[in-house]
Amino acid sequence: AQERYASIRDKDCVTRCGKRITLTMNAGLMADLPSLASSGAEGVGLFRTELQFLVRNQMPSRTELAQLYSRVLDAAQGKRVVFRTLDIGSDKVLPYMKPQEEPNPALGWRAIRVGLDKPGVLRMQLQALLRAAKGRPLSIMFPFVAQYDEFRAARDEMDKAIARETRLGHVLPERIEVGTMLETPSLAYASRRFFAEVEFLSIGGNDLKQFFFAADRENERVRRRYDTLNVSFLTFIQGIVDRCAETGTDLSFCGEDAGRPIEALCLAAIGLRSLSMRPASIGPVKSLLMNTDLDALRAVIENARDRGEQSVRPAVMDFLHNRT
Ligand code: PEP
Ligand code: MG
Repeated sequence: AQERYASIRDKDCVTRCGKRITLTMNAGLMADLPSLASSGAEGVGLFRTELQFLVRNQMPSRTELAQLYSRVLDAAQGKRVVFRTLDIGSDKVLPYMKPQEEPNPALGWRAIRVGLDKPGVLRMQLQALLRAAKGRPLSIMFPFVAQYDEFRAARDEMDKAIARETRLGHVLPERIEVGTMLETPSLAYASRRFFAEVEFLSIGGNDLKQFFFAADRENERVRRRYDTLNVSFLTFIQGIVDRCAETGTDLSFCGEDAGRPIEALCLAAIGLRSLSMRPASIGPVKSLLMNTDLDALRAVIENARDRGEQSVRPAVMDFLHNRT
């Protein structure tokens, strides 16, 4: 399938109306890295570090982790890799950690909540990342931040780790950027200060949608019940785009919807300029984006919304079928 898109693989993704969209891939294991070249992804927009923890049967050491992350950066050959710190709990349980009995794991003690309450592993991971990236750029992203103080506390851990490395006389990364996922509706309404301080945000559409519609992403009965192109949800995402524009905060989208061509088009039409997806989706999404006038599509979306449609999907499908 990737051969079908070989002719556009090394081209920039520029839409018919001249907008440049950055397309990156999601990854989590060394085995994913060769896809960077074969898919034409511009970087790794989401590196799920928990996968490397999940495939082993004991906690990795700091040295092992640093080697692992260094190899990831080597394989990326200078392309940006956004390392997301451990996102465990909920559906992802480490075999060597005591399982938590929780009535609602998705709403429970997970991700950065664990990282801040029991900071040992987070600290080790931050140190390993700093060491792996010495002399090279480093991008770190915290998962499941729901309010400003969680970002602040995580950022403080990062600053402490940097200070420690400096004290020890270790070479630091060439530059360090720290961002967070936006996966709970609460964060979309965080203070302006949050948006100004965070260096970049990535919408975790899988979790964000689950919490927006109160529909469990793991539950077959409800997981496809609500359309991502539902006007309420798109309006909500649009609000996040607008807030980021006000503060000049870099914004991307890294949920599964970024890899679905129609959804990706609509996300770009409402203002997303960076999408991270599974490697196999890059070709089809890029091809469609390059053939689309996003301004025209945006008008179609706004029109459907103004007419009171529940989802813009029928109008978008009409637009795509009827265009010349
Ligand atoms: C998301 O929630 O959209 C996301 C990218 O993170 P994960 O799927 O790993 O929860
Ligand atoms: Mg998530």
